[in-house]
Amino acid sequence: MKKIVVAGAGGFIGGHLANKLKQMGHQVRAVDIKPLNRWYQITEGVENLVLDLKVKENGYQALNGYEEVFNLAADMGGMGFIETHKADCMLSVLINTHLLMAARDLGIQRFFYASSACVYNGEKQTDPNNPGLKEPDAYPALAEDGYGWEKLFSERMCRHFTEDFSLITRVARFHNVYGPFGTYDGGREKAPAAICRKVIEGELYGKKDIIIWGDGHQTRSFMYIDDCIKGILDIMYSHIEEPINLGSAEMVSINQLVDYVEEITNHKLQRKYDPDAPKGVRGRNSDNTLIKQYLDWEPSIPLKKGLKKTYTWIKEQMIENKGKDLKDVVFNKY
Ligand code: NAD
Repeated sequence: MKKIVVAGAGGFIGGHLANKLKQMGHQVRAVDIKPLNRWYQITEGVENLVLDLKVKENGYQALNGYEEVFNLAADMGGMGFIETHKADCMLSVLINTHLLMAARDLGIQRFFYASSACVYNGEKQTDPNNPGLKEPDAYPALAEDGYGWEKLFSERMCRHFTEDFSLITRVARFHNVYGPFGTYDGGREKAPAAICRKVIEGELYGKKDIIIWGDGHQTRSFMYIDDCIKGILDIMYSHIEEPINLGSAEMVSINQLVDYVEEITNHKLQRKYDPDAPKGVRGRNSDNTLIKQYLDWEPSIPLKKGLKKTYTWIKEQMIENKGKDLKDVVFNKY
């Protein structure tokens, strides 16, 4: 049994990870800035701390007495959020920087940092038939403005803390993660959850149209949360010293994603395209050569399968929370 801190545990991926680590028998401390009643999951037997990890002293308090750290805390969301909150996204640099300093000073044995495919050079993502981004494609650096630059800087901070202070760090570049207990409303949601929500609104409220951001031909790959958690743990306890892709290589267009959700529901909507909405890069996919070499594994849960579970969960939430203000909705089921 190890003593493990999960930063950002009130959020989507951190909540699943804290739960998994507890199930594995570890002593877990979960930390997040949000008040407890807004955490997506609360796991019994986990110590929960509400702290702003941008503040240096709070980083030290969070890590004190513990052995390992998973940093999943960041001010982030889908394209609609990151394109309009660049300064907020970049301020997350304080979280990782202060946590690294605390980790160094408190003798933390292993440190995981959640990076993103948004570190990749935008000029390598102009074709919807993206063959897959390889790790070196982050350079020469031309990351997603704001959010991506913060991730790239923080990756490098991890590397330098390893070089200069011998702190063991592991960095994974997540490509869009989706699944139950993820944000599906309120402005921070990402494409799979947003599309599920819009299709369910059609079913529940008789809406006839669906607004699609851009022309729908832009491509992405989406990783189901179970693959993400397995990948995080395998990378953390590996010898992989360089930032590595953690994403599905099943690339689809946004139009295909809508097709898949409509197939689940048997409910077809009239598509309306909004060319002025935030779209992000034209084509993005994960090249998994490196992760397969290192781990003999890659995320492989089919999108259709993961979407069905996600859709079912979001629908349950929407039925349960019908008429409630989103800020009063508590997702805590544990
Ligand atoms: P999330 O927003 O659900 O979780 C992040 C959590 O961090 C939130 O609960 C938030 O309250 C917390 N947080 C923000 N600022 C904080 C602060 N100052 N102090 C303490 N906690 C703070 O997001 P997620 O989808 O679970 O993402 C987790 C990590 O993975 C993030 O670093 C994110 O950038 C990265 N990532 C996610 C995806 C994805 O598709 N979900 C893709 C690439 C990278």
